Amino acid sequence: MSEASIRAAGGPLAWVAALALVSVVCVAPACAGDQGAAQAHVEGAKLVAPESAATSASAAAPAPSALADSVTTPSPARLPARDYIAEVRAGFTPENHAYATRHLWVEILDPLYAIAVGMFLLFSGLAARMRDVADNMGKHRYVRVLVFFSLYVVISWVLTFPLSWYSGFALEHQFGLSTQSFGRWIADEFKGQAVIILFLGGFGLLSLAYGTIEKSPRRWWLSFAIATLPIIIFLVLIEPIVIDPIFNKFTPLRDAELRTEILDLAAKAGIPGRNVYEVDQSTKTRKFDAYVNGFGASQRIVIWDTTLHGMTHDEILYVVGHEMGHYVLGHVWKGVLAISLAAFLLFWLASVLMSAAISVWGPRWKISAPHDIASIPLLAVTLTVLSLVTQPIANAYSRRVEHEADLFGLEVTHLSDAGARAFLKIGSQNRSDPEPNTFVRLMFYTHPPLLDRVRTARDYHPWLEGKPNKYFKVR
Ligand SMILES: [Zn+2]
Repeated sequence: MSEASIRAAGGPLAWVAALALVSVVCVAPACAGDQGAAQAHVEGAKLVAPESAATSASAAAPAPSALADSVTTPSPARLPARDYIAEVRAGFTPENHAYATRHLWVEILDPLYAIAVGMFLLFSGLAARMRDVADNMGKHRYVRVLVFFSLYVVISWVLTFPLSWYSGFALEHQFGLSTQSFGRWIADEFKGQAVIILFLGGFGLLSLAYGTIEKSPRRWWLSFAIATLPIIIFLVLIEPIVIDPIFNKFTPLRDAELRTEILDLAAKAGIPGRNVYEVDQSTKTRKFDAYVNGFGASQRIVIWDTTLHGMTHDEILYVVGHEMGHYVLGHVWKGVLAISLAAFLLFWLASVLMSAAISVWGPRWKISAPHDIASIPLLAVTLTVLSLVTQPIANAYSRRVEHEADLFGLEVTHLSDAGARAFLKIGSQNRSDPEPNTFVRLMFYTHPPLLDRVRTARDYHPWLEGKPNKYFKVR
């Protein structure tokens, strides 16, 4: 889900989005923040069938290439040749600093604003009135929840519009990062809201959830937590095939030469190279990124076309090597497992907090019990607060995983210089702060700061010292 759609929906979506986010591991620091799982990827366009990907992959026969040699032959010449640390610092211009600062404020305000909107709906009595409207539309819980939730998503979207417009459209245009017209941007927003209403409301998930709360007022959190794993697995599985294509066009990598090099690399890493796609992000942004998402047969490496146009082949190969690290080291399923376990604690805390809040303010909100569907905004607020509180832990985990992928990328490609250049480009192109202070790093950084990543590219080269790799085991 895009940051925008999360904000618009207030919070339950923040939760579903958090689940989906876990399924995406990217190369750029901006990835998890700006482009989460669901929005992110998409526009119209038909999904390219796996068969056609396989066909094009086999068409490009993995002939022995220069890369194959580079992977096995140590070469001191591949170490960073320039003072990239100084270049990264110099690349963080006053203009980039201004963008990074504003972007940071948006990240700070975003969840606080969502919480404020949820509390406003409760204290103003709007939530209770929306419930009354829903009750008049039908007796069945499915209908009542669908009506209430649709109203809730639309009203929350309208109330949070100023912030989502600023962060998703105005700020990006102000700093020359967006290539999207207002019409295309808002169309993506509508699609994002529609996906949320359809998934949680239309498919009856929220109705089922509220039925569970009514049936077991004390233990519903346990059912929620148990249901989390299969739901995330389902989401992660369908995301690249069903959700992403709603927002972007995906095609198997077109550059035949690059494809051959990537196939060679994939063969070394022991992963199916046919699952490498490019996505038309240039229709939306000038930023660089690449990511891995999906599970099993749906798992794929996706490279933004902006990255393909803005980086040299060896830089792209390093980036792909990083993504292959996520793939080989099982970061997607480990993330899914981690959040499924965390769900037990989160939902238990949510149930305690919701009951406590309703016992204090219930009469004022005209909400009698947690199973009253007017408490949906409260569930959203509670989950947003909990995800905010646990954010530093989730980010620490994410930074560790990203660091592992950085090391894997170096081990499998030996492209130290290209790796450093890739980070340099990501930093200046995405206008990200390469050296955030500790608070900002702990609270908001899902990736190691770029300066650290450049240092890693410069200093980590076990193949030159005759030491074994930590992550990439030669087959
Ligand atoms: Zn990554």
